Amino acid sequence: MAPKVSRGMKTNKRINVNRLQKEMKSQLLYSGAGFVGFADISDLRFPDNVEWRIAISIGLPYDSRIVDRLDSEVEAFEKHLQETCESMENLLKVCEHYLRQEGFITRIHFAKNLPGLLSTFSHKMAATKAGLGWIGKSSLFVSTEFGCRVRLATVLTNAPFTSGKPVTESQCGDCIECVKACPYQAIKGATWYPGIERDELLDAFLCDRIRNEYIPKLGYRHPCGLCVKACPVGKREY
Ligand code: SF4
Ligand code: SF4
Repeated sequence: MAPKVSRGMKTNKRINVNRLQKEMKSQLLYSGAGFVGFADISDLRFPDNVEWRIAISIGLPYDSRIVDRLDSEVEAFEKHLQETCESMENLLKVCEHYLRQEGFITRIHFAKNLPGLLSTFSHKMAATKAGLGWIGKSSLFVSTEFGCRVRLATVLTNAPFTSGKPVTESQCGDCIECVKACPYQAIKGATWYPGIERDELLDAFLCDRIRNEYIPKLGYRHPCGLCVKACPVGKREY
């Protein structure tokens, strides 16, 4: 079991935390992140017994041109998803390096699916708590700037950073583009609010099962993404 670490952990050096936060964010943006936000998670308890204080939410935008062609160029979209996964790993290393060199503890959060395809603490939850966007009717995170066209990752830390103002309301309004785009009616059309059950928004089992059915034919799970493409938020004009 990991040792219990106090939120007020002392380090040997005198640290300018505000400067560290700014420099780390600038470096992440310079290295390719589309956004970086900070969520106060001091009210949450984690099974590792560490009193995490802040969740750093990092967003890496997809290439919008590839997203716009994802239905006709499935393999290219799948390849792009893999590439953004690798690029995100580099961003996570940058983030951890900044924090650890100043004596803070970190943990990259992996959204481990529990039975029922649910996670105890999700990247989406971190991003909304950081004030970066909301959860769409599609159950995808919708960033104000990039819509759903973004990969999310989260780093937990005990660094006493300043946090953003959580988003607690959907901005989807009357839009139902993702509902219409799903060929299997997996998206139910409900509006998100903090605490809503994922099942009220999306039949994730259906989405998962249908995409898995393509594995024998394609050699990988169908990435689909029609709901990502359909969302008008963050669409780019070329
Ligand atoms: S990924 Fe495809 S199947 Fe799943 S909810 Fe989105 S549009 Fe529907
Ligand atoms: S397509 Fe419309 S309803 Fe769906 S997530 Fe985007 S804004 Fe919300």
